[in-house]
Amino acid sequence: MKNEPQRTSTLPNGNDIRLPWHLRLPAPLERDFADYFRGSVASVTPWAAASLVALLILALIVEYTISPEAAAVTWRPRLLCVMLIVATALIARRADWRRWLHVSSLAVAFAVALTGNWMGLNVDHAMAFGLFLQTPLAILMACVVLRVPFHLAAVSSLAMLGILVLTLFGSDRVDRDLSLVLLLLSVASASMSLFGQYIYERLLRQHFLSENVLFQHRDELHSANRILENQATVDGLTGCLNRRGMENRLDEVLHGFGRGGVSERITLVLFDIDFFKQYNDTYGHLAGDDCLKTVASIPRSMAQNSKDFVARYGGEEFVVVLVDTSLKDALVFAERMRTRIEQLGLPHTGSRISQVVTISVGVASAGNCDNDATNLIKCADEALYQAKGAGRNRVAYMSDQGRVVTL
Ligand code: GH3
Ligand code: MG
Ligand code: MG
Repeated sequence: MKNEPQRTSTLPNGNDIRLPWHLRLPAPLERDFADYFRGSVASVTPWAAASLVALLILALIVEYTISPEAAAVTWRPRLLCVMLIVATALIARRADWRRWLHVSSLAVAFAVALTGNWMGLNVDHAMAFGLFLQTPLAILMACVVLRVPFHLAAVSSLAMLGILVLTLFGSDRVDRDLSLVLLLLSVASASMSLFGQYIYERLLRQHFLSENVLFQHRDELHSANRILENQATVDGLTGCLNRRGMENRLDEVLHGFGRGGVSERITLVLFDIDFFKQYNDTYGHLAGDDCLKTVASIPRSMAQNSKDFVARYGGEEFVVVLVDTSLKDALVFAERMRTRIEQLGLPHTGSRISQVVTISVGVASAGNCDNDATNLIKCADEALYQAKGAGRNRVAYMSDQGRVVTL
């Protein structure tokens, strides 16, 4: 048999991702990409806007140097463009306005391009034909610098070229040959810019996809870790914490309360089912399992404080940790728990002390048994041992003089 590596994850890896030629992703991803894209645009927009404004001011200075009469015509449309650029930069700053960012960037491109055409026709100077070239340049610059998505840039390039054709060939001021040269130059620069933008957006989308898959892998790992962590600390049969989980939590509460100076109010109640070996022998192991589950449900239903917890310490031994509870209250709790389990009336003909399932309980308080998990368990175990010795089905505790007292 061929030994192929097993893939446990259902997610694709980075190499499985293929972008279609039109670049659009399936619906939910496309929406996420749009947010991601706008976020990345927003961070560059203020700088892009500042450089566009600087260029427009520079253009105005050049126009003034060539001809002050030309500058007298061009400053108004230039001012309009600067205002649109400033508005775009402001839109980029507010997250709730950002859905207007592309529209606003396109408005900048159209405004610069259209004013270029208008000025090409109205500025009375030999070099004014050069203003027509602003049409493709404005699209190229606004779309690249303000990162307009490719499909919008393509549509606006076509629209601009259409307007350019109408303006150049509809006017008697620019002759046919010059018009053709200007148009060819415009088509060339628009094509180059669109090609660059296509490649750029493809890379950006590919990057987004890889990142997205990585995030999904990370989330999958996190939830697998959570499940494993749970399995490592919870007892599969009873749903209580297991011994390891108990030791972790006990350390946590002892340390947490130690800092607050109230650790003596943590009590540990250890209990063990009486003659459980005989129970298994009489009713079988499966019935023994059911008995363990039923018995464990009693302390679980009784532990009120969210910090209290029940754990299965070993085979048929359980621990209840009561946080912020005095020894006196813990003894009341233990006695009530013992009675309730007895009152369940689970038949146990193999028991030598009762006809039903009973437990023996040992209680110890952190105040009496050192502020340490191992000692606390040892004290409770000693008390439990004495409860067993004193005839079982009873509660014993470690007193503050270090003696075990049986109730
Ligand atoms: P004592 O009254 O002194 O506690 O006597 P005991 O018979 O309860 O104590 P012992 O330690 O001799 O026996 C414990 C029994 O618990 C032995 C073991 O088979 C049983 N046991 C431990 N874990 C499980 C379990 O997960 N399921 C079942 N059904 N039985 C278990
Ligand atoms: Mg035992
Ligand atoms: Mg037992």
